[in-house]
Amino acid sequence: MEKIIIAGAGYAGVIAAREMLKYDQPATLINAEPYHQLTTWLHEAAGGRNQVDDYKIDLRDLFPDPIIQLVVDEITGIDWKKRQLTGSHGVYPYDYALIALGSTPEYFNIEGLYAHSLPLKSLESARVIRRHIEREFMRYGEDHDEIHLRVIVGGAGLTGVEFVGELAEWLPDLCHSLKIEDSKVEIICVEAMPDILPMLPNHLRDWAQHELEAAGVQFMTSSKIVRVEKQTLELAGGEKINAGTIVWTGGVRAHPLLGDAGFTCDRKGRAKVKETLKSVDDDRVWIAGDCASYDWAGKPLPPTAQLATQMGKQAALNILHTLQKEEQHSFTPKIYGTLASLGPSRGVGAMVGIRTSGRFASLFKELTKVKYLMQIGGVRMVNRKRRAHLLQV
Ligand SMILES: Cc1cc2nc3c(=O)[nH]c(=O)nc-3n(C[C@H](O)[C@H](O)[C@H](O)COP(=O)(O)OP(=O)(O)OC[C@H]3O[C@@H](n4cnc5c(N)ncnc54)[C@H](O)[C@@H]3O)c2cc1C
Repeated sequence: MEKIIIAGAGYAGVIAAREMLKYDQPATLINAEPYHQLTTWLHEAAGGRNQVDDYKIDLRDLFPDPIIQLVVDEITGIDWKKRQLTGSHGVYPYDYALIALGSTPEYFNIEGLYAHSLPLKSLESARVIRRHIEREFMRYGEDHDEIHLRVIVGGAGLTGVEFVGELAEWLPDLCHSLKIEDSKVEIICVEAMPDILPMLPNHLRDWAQHELEAAGVQFMTSSKIVRVEKQTLELAGGEKINAGTIVWTGGVRAHPLLGDAGFTCDRKGRAKVKETLKSVDDDRVWIAGDCASYDWAGKPLPPTAQLATQMGKQAALNILHTLQKEEQHSFTPKIYGTLASLGPSRGVGAMVGIRTSGRFASLFKELTKVKYLMQIGGVRMVNRKRRAHLLQV
């Protein structure tokens, strides 16, 4: 029997493996951790909502049936000429592979940014950010240096804005629990572009900015970070800002293994794929999610979970078609829109043509979470995450 490997159990990989399961097709799913992380919710985990570990799902829970063989290993090399993946614990030969290893933070060669900022990208990074902020606030209780109460978030895209929305709700509570006056807390969001949430229409991004400013967030737009040192950020005009916490959410690039393996990549390191999601370089490899470069309307699709799940499904179906000696299908992305949460009870965005803000947008966002949990784990998973207070509906 032909050996199928899915590398990466994120949004693309898990959906692909579920598709294999649906058609009783044995496959091996390799992931660096034994769990699937709910990456699109990580601003909540980093921002003090719920327990960090509730934002992960054990892969054995998602795939109890041995038809999907689970391997916990970190892939360290892809050799598509030899048709094998290498990991820290073994070598994994395949007949067909789906690479869905996601992305890593993009630091744009900004001096000191990697060394002196905390990325918000994985469950562990969310845990580190949360602990770091808690420790800084505790230190303020010891030396009363206000630097400890200043949090800078670099990037005002979806991740950065959702994170400052959480901070605006959480930090007053944290101050209260540590018996610190919250009026000295500063949350500063620094963005190189002139606007926050560039994917939204003007009136919605203005609304979001106004709401967050009213909640205490300061936005510094058109402000390019040029250098970062320990607890100091320097902007293009020479201005320096000190902060106990510097979080970076300003962009992603594809997992470096794709470029290292010699796949043809775009400038963000994403491996180029054909319309069937097959690699342009090799007929036995499909690539999906943040590490795939798929041109649509003249430019590569953005790295979103929404598209990663769709790609994961189509890539899996095309592998199944190949096994059946059937024709491959082209991938047609469905871009439904973007919803951003601004803390637990407000949101903003445009979804399926409906532009919305406030409580209704937040409910809409919660429903997209329910839809995803249903897709990967059914009602049981929805109920489990509801019991852990991860859902507001
Ligand atoms: C805070 C935050 C909020 C977001 N909000 C949204 C949103 O609202 N809507 C939206 O559409 N998108 C959102 N995104 C983007 C979205 O999370 C990504 O586009 C999506 O996760 C990409 O899916 P993927 O399957 O390509 O990669 P991932 O989901 O990142 O999965 C990659 C998997 O590969 C594993 N892996 C990585 N390297 C190795 C290795 N060497 N060996 C083995 N396994 C490995 C990882 O552990 C992971 O399980 C958000 C991102 C963040 C960080």
